[in-house]
Amino acid sequence: MARYLVTSAIPYINGIKHLGNLVGSQLPSDVYARYLRGRGHEVMHICATDEHGSPAELAAQKAQKPVAEYCAEMHDVQAGLADGFRMNFDHFGRSSSPQNHELTQHFAAQLAKQGLIAEVEEHQIYSVTDGRFLPDRYVEGTCPNCGFDSARGDQCDNCTKQLDPTDLINPRSTISGATDLEVRATTHLHLKQSQLRSELSDWIEGKHDWPLLTTSIAKKWLNDGDGLQDRGITRDLDWGVPVPDLPGKVFYVWFDAPIAYIAATAEKFDDWERWWRTDKGADDVTYVQFMGKDNVPFHTLSFPATIIGSGEPWKLVDYIKSFNYLNYEGGQFSTSRGRGVFMDQALSVLPSDYWRWWLMSNVPETSDSQFTWENFQAGCNKDLADVLGNFVSRVTKFCRSKFGEEVPDGPLGETEQALVEELTRRVTLYEGHMQAMEFRKATAELRSIWVAGNEYLQEAAPWAVFKQDPEQAAGIIRLALNLCRFYAALSVPFIPDASAMLATSLNTNLDWPEDVAAALDTLKPGHAFTVPENLFAKITDEQREDWQERFQGR
Ligand SMILES: [Zn+2]
Repeated sequence: MARYLVTSAIPYINGIKHLGNLVGSQLPSDVYARYLRGRGHEVMHICATDEHGSPAELAAQKAQKPVAEYCAEMHDVQAGLADGFRMNFDHFGRSSSPQNHELTQHFAAQLAKQGLIAEVEEHQIYSVTDGRFLPDRYVEGTCPNCGFDSARGDQCDNCTKQLDPTDLINPRSTISGATDLEVRATTHLHLKQSQLRSELSDWIEGKHDWPLLTTSIAKKWLNDGDGLQDRGITRDLDWGVPVPDLPGKVFYVWFDAPIAYIAATAEKFDDWERWWRTDKGADDVTYVQFMGKDNVPFHTLSFPATIIGSGEPWKLVDYIKSFNYLNYEGGQFSTSRGRGVFMDQALSVLPSDYWRWWLMSNVPETSDSQFTWENFQAGCNKDLADVLGNFVSRVTKFCRSKFGEEVPDGPLGETEQALVEELTRRVTLYEGHMQAMEFRKATAELRSIWVAGNEYLQEAAPWAVFKQDPEQAAGIIRLALNLCRFYAALSVPFIPDASAMLATSLNTNLDWPEDVAAALDTLKPGHAFTVPENLFAKITDEQREDWQERFQGR
């Protein structure tokens, strides 16, 4: 038994995430954490909402709510959706928690003590009417490129040109509409990441087992152009972790968000340091992070710079599993155009197991992958309904009709011995893929394990054997009922609801089958069970067409 700390990239607070976000962070993280728990390891599984920054303030403004209230509400929405998808987080925290305020300020103070913080004078837009400096997105005006009259300070939404707030013609404050804006000097803090470049480089170079996607992105940021740059860690906002000694400023969201992994653990657990401080017990912890590729620079460089630069014995990540993008029907998911399936919509049309299975068997591991309704329908119908669901249904119903709802007694033969050997080999492969977080290979192997049961049943043909030799048919069915339990246990990481339902019907537990032969002899003759409800209904063509239409966007 080992100890694993598992974190999912934390979703930003302003709105509900789509399936592409889900499959790149929370879902694989949950699959892995569930697998580790199944194997008896001690696991701490953490996620949170990322709540600071100007997009949160602006979204709150749009919703006409105070930002703290908006974030509290959206946190509950996102935590509810995580529950709906059966994420078994030990805690789903908030980056706005008091624990994160304290830890973020602590890290900044430590970094300053180590000489890694610089005070830099910047020139920024100040609104006299509002009495404050305005971050990029708080300034709007006419685009110097296309003449669009509502271009934002960071970008023009009409022509997509990247802008600086001072580029805008007739700039105004988005807070008050004030036009009495002027450029003033102000002090910001920068993290001197460039001084940690060689240390970070040595650390990344030593990670031979990391996915190429992870290390290649890290090395690009370390080495391209002038190499790793110093970076501002403060902003002129009200909402955030206040910067001591710099009134009106808060820490930049990229700085405080990853610290929330630690803080979220501390929100819930008094003994959180045994997971996060190598001087307090975390030296035997394996720390694994899950994220989409856009988050890799922050987790391979910025957050490690904070950890290493602090000079304190904080736990550094041991493995970063990163993902490419999931696209939607030949294009991208789009929040603004309502294109694609978002987490709340997904659960409104089908239970989470369908989504979990399909997304993980099509996870964008080595390249971008694509969600299409045709593939989704075909994959769910074939794997879940035809292979797994059908097996369970045939076996339990046949048993009920011939032997009643209890496990019958009968002999096993050579066919069963061969099956045990095949499954032993396949389970070892499956475990290897799960441990290595190779999820496409893992789902393919699990599917093969389900198929092996169907092929066995086809070959053993208990319905035919029953006519000549009911006792032999009873032996086949006893093994097949044990296979149902075996499948439920192995499938927990991907389809936890179906597994739980099956365990309840079979009146058994979901202990991991450490020894296949023993696992297939768990349900003894006389053990009572009930025939489960149909595990997976097939997705019809009408449903598919309806959903295709509904989620195509504007
Ligand atoms: Zn423009």
